[in-house]
Amino acid sequence: MKYSFPYLGNVMVYKKIFEMFDYEVVVPPRPTQKTIDLGTKYSPEFACFPYKMLMGNYIEACERGAQIIVSSGGHGPCRAGFYGELHERTLRQMGFDVELIIFDSIRRDLWGDLSKFFRLKGKNSFRKIISATRIVLRMLKDLDYFDKKIHTMMPYEVVKGSFVKAFEEITKNYEKCWTMKETVKAFEMGEELLRSIEIEKVEERDRIRIGVVGEIFVVIESSINMDIENTLCSFGCEAERSQYLGEWVDHNFFGKGREKEILKMGEDYIKIIIGGHAKQNVGHIVDYSKRGFDGVVHLMPFACLPELVSQSVIPKISETYGIPVLTLAIDEQTGKANNMTRIEAFVDLIRNSKRRASA
Ligand code: SF4
Repeated sequence: MKYSFPYLGNVMVYKKIFEMFDYEVVVPPRPTQKTIDLGTKYSPEFACFPYKMLMGNYIEACERGAQIIVSSGGHGPCRAGFYGELHERTLRQMGFDVELIIFDSIRRDLWGDLSKFFRLKGKNSFRKIISATRIVLRMLKDLDYFDKKIHTMMPYEVVKGSFVKAFEEITKNYEKCWTMKETVKAFEMGEELLRSIEIEKVEERDRIRIGVVGEIFVVIESSINMDIENTLCSFGCEAERSQYLGEWVDHNFFGKGREKEILKMGEDYIKIIIGGHAKQNVGHIVDYSKRGFDGVVHLMPFACLPELVSQSVIPKISETYGIPVLTLAIDEQTGKANNMTRIEAFVDLIRNSKRRASA
């Protein structure tokens, strides 16, 4: 059987866990315009953009021989809860003999998810599963750590492109790891590599820090979000996302992390969970403001109802906390040049108002 997964974030980690279970893996190609076109062609017109993106992604994985696709689903009021079923039905109608294994919510359907887990476990011993999971979780968290750190340093790199190259090298180092000892070594090598990169000294008042919030898929996957963090860094800003894969796993599987605190911060603006990460996003904007960030970019997939609701309350949060927020709608027709101009203008406004305030 050949296993695959959606292309979301650093897919090396997903590949690694399947390989550790001795399964054959099909890594889907990084999404391109062709992926988007394919997904759009085989999706209902009214479906939200991540649905279409995943559709294209799954088709490309099936064309490469994927027979089982493992993914996460949704458990809130938004449509994500139906997507696995619809994707599978469409792929079968297209003639692919494929099965989708979807993990919706470990805490809501423990038995359902346990039976899926046992299917994935196959003949692997529990000891092997626990050891592989520990190593991969460590990798996931390390890569999140480097990802975050790099985007606070990239705007000040002396040689342009140094940090992008460094992150590629760090990922490759982790790809070679099969034991915890090797993984720990890869972390030390990563730290050393970052220390060797020359950066300009910058005064605290000249730093611009931007948070990126929005629907999880468009926030995490750089191929469809105009590579937002690197773009912000190229305009001289530090960037931090509201979603990282390691944090998502921590919250959804182990109930750890800051999610409860973030949800509390969003309570004044969205009372209940309305699907996706809408409530978390408003909480994150409040959090970014309290942590002294200078602005927030809000990424909203076209046809996403939860994010439409959060967009409607953002002006109020922006006014209350004095933090500027730029909302960008993303879909299959997103024009990169237009959004680049808007991001650049947004950063210029923040920079100018900071300069005026410190003059
Ligand atoms: S949160 Fe929005 S974009 Fe994501 S699945 Fe739900 S409706 Fe679609």
